[in-house]
Amino acid sequence: MSEHAGRAAFVTGAGSGIGRAIALALAARGAFVWATDFDGASADGTVELARQAGGRGEAIPLDVRHETQWQDALARSDSHDAPLTVLVNCAGTHAVTDTFSMPLDDFRRIMAVNVEGTFLGMKHAIPRIAESGGGAVLNISSVAGLKGMAGWTAYCGSKGAIRMMTKAVALECAGLRNEVRVNSVHPGFVDTPALRSALARGHRAEPGRGPRDLDEVAKTTVPIGVACSPGEVADTVCFLASDSARHITGAEIVIDGGMTAD
Ligand code: NAP
Repeated sequence: MSEHAGRAAFVTGAGSGIGRAIALALAARGAFVWATDFDGASADGTVELARQAGGRGEAIPLDVRHETQWQDALARSDSHDAPLTVLVNCAGTHAVTDTFSMPLDDFRRIMAVNVEGTFLGMKHAIPRIAESGGGAVLNISSVAGLKGMAGWTAYCGSKGAIRMMTKAVALECAGLRNEVRVNSVHPGFVDTPALRSALARGHRAEPGRGPRDLDEVAKTTVPIGVACSPGEVADTVCFLASDSARHITGAEIVIDGGMTAD
């Protein structure tokens, strides 16, 4: 598997969960991976794992909310031998709370990471990907970008915004004929440390609920009865980032075990 050999991929939120799995999967397929995260040490851990598996990459601390950090981080990729061809906007955050007592600052924090972070990534990486001869952007949205979930107002709003920004930018790139494809990916219920700890804290979906076990919740929440693994999301991202997906742009790819099928 070396379909990304000689190319570079830039992944945000690569220090844990789905972002880490995506970074490792792209490295395993030959890409030089720029693994970035708010928490630089966790990004270092991802690069270490990639190297142990024979891959190549470098970690960069990046808070996706800050435009200057994006510019500095991407500037490092400019002088590298592997041209930048893939951006994965995976960094994300959430809060579960009822709308009527949610502090505005909490709402803004979620929008800043999920929406502004994704916007800034596309703004600064796409010209570079086009300069490299083309490639792909994958914006990690959620089923929450496709359907409403009580208690998840800011998260649903942010993930819906990612979905529509993706389509707008995909059309802009198509119009420019710059060979950059832009798609959104909508996972449903993925077994990550973030989801496990959210469930253990007992506040998923309906505020006030007690702690719950991820596998038990999956049986009732996911029609096929099991949680998705981060690696399954990563495999789909790798396909969408590859030349095999040359005709896929502006699409929303759902990986949810049937959660949005009704
Ligand atoms: P996760 O393990 O918490 O990964 C998110 C990563 O983003 C963390 O490493 C986090 O760093 C980082 N991050 C947070 N704020 C950031 C910022 N301002 N700048 C840069 N990095 C930042 O969560 P996950 O479950 O793998 O989720 C990854 C993505 O998939 C998110 O966008 C999430 O919304 C989406 N998603 C997840 C599921 C699911 O079931 N797990 C379902 C649908 C969609 P810290 O740990 O240091 O905060």
